[in-house]
Amino acid sequence: MNLPARRPRHPLPPAQRPSARSTLKMAALAGALAGAAGQAAAQDPLTTRCESAPIAALFKVFGDTGRMPPDLGRFLQSAALQKIEPYKAFDNVYYVGICWVSAWLITSPSGHVLIDALYGPYTEPMLDNIRKLGFDPKDIRQVMMTHGHFDHAGGAVTLKAALPGARFAMTAEGWREAAESAAESASRPNRWTMIDKDMVLTDGQVLQVGDIRLQTFETPGHTMGTASFSFDAFDGGRRHRAFTVGGLGLNAIKGPEQVEAFIASIKRIRTLTEDPKDPVTTHLTTHAFSNGLTEAKELLKARKPGDAHPLVDPRGFREQLDALQAGAEQRLVAERAKKPN
Ligand SMILES: [Zn+2]
Repeated sequence: MNLPARRPRHPLPPAQRPSARSTLKMAALAGALAGAAGQAAAQDPLTTRCESAPIAALFKVFGDTGRMPPDLGRFLQSAALQKIEPYKAFDNVYYVGICWVSAWLITSPSGHVLIDALYGPYTEPMLDNIRKLGFDPKDIRQVMMTHGHFDHAGGAVTLKAALPGARFAMTAEGWREAAESAAESASRPNRWTMIDKDMVLTDGQVLQVGDIRLQTFETPGHTMGTASFSFDAFDGGRRHRAFTVGGLGLNAIKGPEQVEAFIASIKRIRTLTEDPKDPVTTHLTTHAFSNGLTEAKELLKARKPGDAHPLVDPRGFREQLDALQAGAEQRLVAERAKKPN
C-alpha cells in the first residue's frame, strides 16, 4: 500500500470520507442480514482490505433505502473478510474487534476493561485476539457496552460464560433496549439473547480498574440508552484523552425528540474536545469505517520515531462531530415534517 509520508488531517481524502448521513445506519441490520444471507457467493467482495469508503457508501445505500445491499450483507457475514489482526493502538489500548464493529481493550497490570462485546460468531475470535496480544481474557474486570444493538451487546452471553469474574455494564436504558432488541430478534434466524442486568452506568460515573479511570457519558441519540466513554490512552508515556462515541448513526430513529437528543449529545461531546483543562484528542470509534480508522491504523504501522500519533486527531474528530450534527439537523427537519399536528 502506498502510504503518505505525512499524516493527513483525515485518513481519507474528502471525496472518500463517509458523510454524516452515510455513517452507520444499522439498526434494521439484524433483520436485513437474514435477507441477504446465502445469496450468490461467486461475486467479488465489497473489499478484501476493510477499506472505509466502500463500506460507508453501502451503509448509506442501506440507510437511504432501508434495504441491505447484497454486497454489504455478504461482506458483513464473511468471517474471512471481517477478520482484522488485533493491534496495539496505544501503550495501553488495543483493537480487538472485526472490520465493521470495534472492540477496544484497555489494559492495566491489575485488570482490563473491554468496550463492547461484538456478536454471534465474532465474540470467540475476539477472545483469541486478546490472547494473541498476550493478555488473558480472564483478567478483564469490566465489559462496558455502548448500547443495546446486537453488534455491540450480542456477545455478552458468550463473554459472561467465558469471563466469570467480569462485571457487565450499560446504562439503565441500555439494558432495557438490549433486552427488547434481543426479544424482538426471537423469530429471526439471527436471533440473539441478552444477559440479565448487571452494573448500571450513570452519567459522569467514574470506574476505576487498576490504573484505568473510565468515565461514562450518557449520550442518548443513536439509541436513547447509548453511553460513551472517556479514558486515558498513553503513547510512549504521553497521555492523551481518548473517547469512544457510543453510537454514531441515525438508523434507529423513532421521532424528532430522539434526533434532538442526538444533536445535544454530539454538541456535548464536541465541548469535550475543547475542554481547556483536559481536551479529548482521540476518537476510538465503535465503527472503523466511520472515521477511516482502518486507514489510520496503516499509518500507525508505518509510523517512525518522532512522528505524530495518527489516531490523535482532535481536528478530525471535530470535523466528524460537525458532520454528524449537520446530518442530524437535516434529519430533524424530516422527522418534524413527519409528525402529525
Ligand atoms: Zn447501534
